Amino acid sequence: MKKKHLIMAFALTAMAAACTPSGKQLASGIDLANLDSTYLPGTDFYMYATGGWQKLHPLTAEYSRFGSFDQLQEDNNERLRSLIDSVAAQENKKGSVEQKIADLYNSVMDSARLNSDGLADAYDFLACFHFEEEVVPPRDEDVRNWLENVWPRMQRQGVPGLFGMYIAADEKDAKNNIVTIVQGGLTLGQKDYYVDKDARSEEIRKAYREYIIDLCQHFSFSEPDYTQMAEDVLRIETRIAEASKSRTELRDPEDNYNKLTYKELKEQFPGIHWDGFFQLFGMNGVKEVCLGQPVAIHEVEKILKEETQESLRNIYLWHAMDMAASCIDDASRALSFNFYGKVMSGKEEDRPRWKRAVAAVEGGLGEALGQLYVAKYFPPEAKKRMEKLINNLQIALGERIDVQEWMSDETKKVAREKLDAFYVKVGYPDKWKDYSDLEIGESYLRNILAVGEWEIKDMIKTKFNKPVDRDEWYMTPQTVNAYYNPTTNEICFPAGILQPPFFDMQADDAFNYGAIGVVIGHEMTHGFDDNGSKYDKNGNLVTWWSEEDRKEFEERIQVMRAFHDSIEVMPGLHANGSLTLGENMADHGGLMVAFQAFKNATASNPLPVIDGFTPEQRFFLAYANVWGQNIRDEEIQKRVKGDPHQLGMWRVNGQMPHIDAWYDAFGITEADPMFVPKEKRVTIW
Ligand SMILES: [Zn+2]
Repeated sequence: MKKKHLIMAFALTAMAAACTPSGKQLASGIDLANLDSTYLPGTDFYMYATGGWQKLHPLTAEYSRFGSFDQLQEDNNERLRSLIDSVAAQENKKGSVEQKIADLYNSVMDSARLNSDGLADAYDFLACFHFEEEVVPPRDEDVRNWLENVWPRMQRQGVPGLFGMYIAADEKDAKNNIVTIVQGGLTLGQKDYYVDKDARSEEIRKAYREYIIDLCQHFSFSEPDYTQMAEDVLRIETRIAEASKSRTELRDPEDNYNKLTYKELKEQFPGIHWDGFFQLFGMNGVKEVCLGQPVAIHEVEKILKEETQESLRNIYLWHAMDMAASCIDDASRALSFNFYGKVMSGKEEDRPRWKRAVAAVEGGLGEALGQLYVAKYFPPEAKKRMEKLINNLQIALGERIDVQEWMSDETKKVAREKLDAFYVKVGYPDKWKDYSDLEIGESYLRNILAVGEWEIKDMIKTKFNKPVDRDEWYMTPQTVNAYYNPTTNEICFPAGILQPPFFDMQADDAFNYGAIGVVIGHEMTHGFDDNGSKYDKNGNLVTWWSEEDRKEFEERIQVMRAFHDSIEVMPGLHANGSLTLGENMADHGGLMVAFQAFKNATASNPLPVIDGFTPEQRFFLAYANVWGQNIRDEEIQKRVKGDPHQLGMWRVNGQMPHIDAWYDAFGITEADPMFVPKEKRVTIW
């Protein structure tokens, strides 16, 4: 089940800076080999700062994008593998979390078993779809009821249905959880792939159809059944897509808030058998729901009414087959990879099996693995230093708020209250998830379904008709990332990113503030971006800005939106300034706040010039090095459509021209191509 879309992960990325590939420590944190001096800072700062890194890290077949962040993730994978290996090597008691980690890992690694079993596990799982069997009642109406029962039964095990259901904070009563119904059912992940008319979208739709047919043939479907399957799936998913909101539209929280009593839900959406739906999840006593996208849910009602039984069976069956394909024999996996990996992302090769096995443990038993991880790799002093840095950034953001001339004193006061109320999480959770009800055995597919079912049960157990637990973590401790969550007003920095070379106290402040400092500032600024600024200090979706201030704010963010809209990321393809607005604002705020905190920290003790670079120059080089990456065209096209973060290159070249201190640091003038006149720069923080 999808976690709440509100979490704005930094999708961060570290550095490559404080350590050379050989591991040698550098006091400056900046590895000169990452630079490419054939570029000038004011011509292409991204290439100037990271061109060397790009040459040293060419894309391998496994990757459609490889950046400094992925490099760190690779190191982390090795660590996780060695932790799992040591657990797997010991005698583990049946039912212990160690047994579960070892068995889940081995179920992915055992290729001989997976290939000799072939489709057996999948057929077993899909048996409930067999119309011929007597479980299916003959009358039309009953068949629909049966289908509506199969569907939540599938969804309960993590198979996507025609819409999504989860339990999360009520955005206007953020202390309490509420059952949330959202649009869903799109195998391609977002509506654009179904409705856009550009050549790339057409190509993906064509390849999707071929994938459906190929997988059906592999599952021994014959003609006309597989052609029928492809037609049904594309037609029904396109119907849902046309009624769905775009990712940009989903970013507006007010537009996606629609609270109903259970009675109203049944009256307004009578085409869905809600009693049966919730009963199958074991949820008795639903009082209220938030139904995010009514148009899409109404379309699902129409689909259930208008489509034939066979077509409805096909769409559910397809979602289940598609999910099973990546967890069974190699031939099925290859078909799935060919579409999702090759066609959609441009990858040439699937990840090695051991990385998929680590990912399965990460996905299924993430916090159990995290407990082992922090015990070995997260020193207590890292937590202390990080808390100090966060505190300095918090002070700096307060100062930035104070000096803004466009914001009234009244709004400033409330903004500062929100800033002071940030709930800060560093390293790992204080209490860990309990996996004792999760059963893990030898079958990869059955394990994945068991994990899906356990997650939903755990969600219902801990959240249904219960208050929000502010101490829940939305990322595992070993994750190399960070997030801000508006409904709890929390910033979270898992242990995974708090390690050299990303966060390195051997390196000086210029480096640390430019790298991890901007990340901290980025997450903090999410509390005040176009979306986060609509929530108050208690996480409630309320208006706390004066109307005039909000207008000023909107005008200022429009500069950011327009600047990114104008960026051509590939010939003929422009960035989406609205989709990436929140992340771009967070990068801008992160840079402004971290630079101020850096100046505060070094005011009484200025840093020296190292390797010919001033401390200010090293700050910006450290930031840019976070985003050094190589990327394939297919991946660029995919991200521009669906990723709220800008591409690495534009997180640098789209941000620098709006930071006055960058002009000063590198002596950028009107003669430089990256120069933007002062009156056209973004001025928010
Ligand atoms: Zn972010």
